Amino acid sequence: MRFDVLTIFPAMFDGYFGESIIKRARERRLLDIRVHDLRRWAEGKHRKVDDKPFGGGPGMVMAVGPFFRALRALKVLKMGSAGVLKNKNSGARVVLMSAKGKTFNHKEAVRLAKYDRLVLLCGRYEGVDERVAAKLADEELSIGDYVLTGGELPAMVVVDAVARQVPGVLGKPASLEQESHAEEGVTEYPQYTRPEAFSPKKGVNWKVPKILLSGDHKKVAEWRRSKSGRR
Ligand code: SAH
Repeated sequence: MRFDVLTIFPAMFDGYFGESIIKRARERRLLDIRVHDLRRWAEGKHRKVDDKPFGGGPGMVMAVGPFFRALRALKVLKMGSAGVLKNKNSGARVVLMSAKGKTFNHKEAVRLAKYDRLVLLCGRYEGVDERVAAKLADEELSIGDYVLTGGELPAMVVVDAVARQVPGVLGKPASLEQESHAEEGVTEYPQYTRPEAFSPKKGVNWKVPKILLSGDHKKVAEWRRSKSGRR
């Protein structure tokens, strides 16, 4: 699956996408993640990507131009012979990260994982010129009801959650089946690992539930079902 991220802070992604499961999946070519510096498509000596809001108000707004030129260069926008925009895009799904978007959740991650290519647009400052949402993006997603300083963390959240739905990214497909939210509103049972008893101080032992050590698979499954959370 291919991901294109448009941001004015591409270096923010190096750490997260350069480690662990995402890193391995990229090396194995299951994920093709390309982070692009939006300033490449900004004009003028200062490569300005933002400007003052029409109508007044605080802060700066990210302009539509750089996003448009970036999407055109990345062949996301289908252009007609006369160089005009034909229809919205070329099969890639364009998602604008936005605090006012639809709330991202497990179901959305599964849905987005069905696309071959996702393009994530990251805003900054006071937000993004509305024409990006209206004319360029297919949808707007929020990662929760709070406001962050930019769309970079949201884009990482979305890429991460979608990526682990891509076949092969997790070592074992079974990992996905019983996870939290695989079934709507259901969260995973509690997990334990060694040691069987952990002693934070003398005379105190934090023990693993006995049933998990019993080797009785049926009883373990029953216990786990009973301990699954509900939302
Ligand atoms: N003035 C805007 C917030 C701008 S925050 C408002 O009131 O809605 C700057 C950028 O951060 C946004 O353009 C968006 O890309 C990103 N962002 C902030 N919070 C977000 C959230 N909860 N989910 C997704 N993106 C978010």
